[in-house]
Amino acid sequence: MRRNAHELDKMRRAGRVVAEMHEATRAAIRPGITTAQLNDVAAEVLAKRNARSNFLGYHGFPAVICTSPNDMIVHGIPGSYVLQEGDIISVDCGAIIEGYHGDAAYTAGVGDISDVAQRLLDVTERSLWAGIEQMVKGNRLNEIGRAVQQVAESAGFSVVREYVGHAIGTAMHESPQVPNYWPGVPGPTLKEGMVFAVEPMVNVGGIETYVLDDGWGVMTADGSLSAHFEHTIAITDNGPEVFTIA
Ligand code: MG
Ligand code: MG
Repeated sequence: MRRNAHELDKMRRAGRVVAEMHEATRAAIRPGITTAQLNDVAAEVLAKRNARSNFLGYHGFPAVICTSPNDMIVHGIPGSYVLQEGDIISVDCGAIIEGYHGDAAYTAGVGDISDVAQRLLDVTERSLWAGIEQMVKGNRLNEIGRAVQQVAESAGFSVVREYVGHAIGTAMHESPQVPNYWPGVPGPTLKEGMVFAVEPMVNVGGIETYVLDDGWGVMTADGSLSAHFEHTIAITDNGPEVFTIA
């Protein structure tokens, strides 16, 4: 699906709200705060910007952000978990403006974190940007995942296979999917006006996952740390335009 200038402008505005949710939640992260409090901070931004939440009520999801600490990969429900010094916490945020969606995630350290945790954060964010660099018209979609995988695996980490990025527009999750690895075929040709959420999930250990009994939280099977970075990005005549950045 290709979006016209009018649609892209709405997505740009939705992206700015998501960037503001990132800024506000990042500023609130510290030892002692609960993930429910981070959700409240994000909800305030949505209210202030008259934006709707695309997470709340999504297949029954009960919050406006996902909060996934340590060995949780994605989709954590905010609640009574208290952030501890040394944790890493993944925060996934989304917003709708006039029917158009933005979606982006980051992982942050809580206070001082271990060297391997810091390296995981750095590598995962770098893998996202390597993917974004591939988002030029005429290129093939799965070059994004190939670039992500190259950065993550050359650092000795692994890339989650079961959860992937996606096209985005009037729904949060549209087709096609955007794998974070080379799936063996090049995929569709990128054209200006296409918009994707690219979202590498990178584990220190293996790629195996399981879902918590709450039906949401996705964990690494081996208990290793996992990080998640995501942006919503449009393909333009002038290269990739990242919507979810301040
Ligand atoms: Mg997301
Ligand atoms: Mg997404």
